[in-house]
Amino acid sequence: MVLIVITKAPMQLSIFLKQRQKQQKSIQLWFKRLRRNTRINLDPYFHQAHDAVFKNTDCMKCAHCCATTSPIFYQKDIDRAALALHIKPGEFIERYLEMDEEGDFVFTQTPCPFLQADHACSIYKDRPKACREYPHTNRKQIRQLLTITEKNTQVCPAVLQIVNQIQERFKADGITI
Ligand code: SF4
Ligand code: SF4
Repeated sequence: MVLIVITKAPMQLSIFLKQRQKQQKSIQLWFKRLRRNTRINLDPYFHQAHDAVFKNTDCMKCAHCCATTSPIFYQKDIDRAALALHIKPGEFIERYLEMDEEGDFVFTQTPCPFLQADHACSIYKDRPKACREYPHTNRKQIRQLLTITEKNTQVCPAVLQIVNQIQERFKADGITI
C-alpha cells in the first residue's frame, strides 16, 4: 500500500469508480471463467501487467486501499508496529484493532489511523506485511488469489488496469476462456 513513488498519476479515483461499476458484470464473469479454466498459467500474464501498470502508478496520489480497507495484522506485524510507536503489543491491539469474522486482526476503522493527509503512511517502515505486498498481483501462484484479486478490482485502480491489460493480452494471443 502507498509509497510506490513513480512518475505518472494513476487513473483518477472518480473515473476508476465509474469504470469499475460499468465493468462490474463483465469482470465477475471473467473471473468466474478464469477460475474454471485451469489450463492457463496466469503468473506471467499478471506479473507482466503488474510491472507495466505500476511503472506508471503513483500510489501517493491515490491511497484508496489505505482509505477504504484494512490489512490483516499477524503477531509479527503487531509487535513491529507497537515497537515503532513505543507501546506494548497489547496496547496496540486495544487502541487500533479488532477481530474480523475470520478471526484475523484488522483495524477497527477506515481510513487507516496511520494514513496522513498527504497520503503518506506514518508507520511506513514498520507497516504490516499485507500493506507491503498489496495488491498482491505480482505474487507467485496468483491463481490461488483470484478471489481477493477480483475484490481488489473494486478498491485499487491499478488492479482494474492490470485485469483490463490481461483481457487485451488474451485477445491478442487468441486465448478464450
Ligand atoms: S499501515 Fe500504512 S500502508 Fe498500511 S493501510 Fe495504514 S497507511 Fe496504508
Ligand atoms: S489502491 Fe492501488 S493504486 Fe491506489 S494506493 Fe493502493 S495500491 Fe496504489
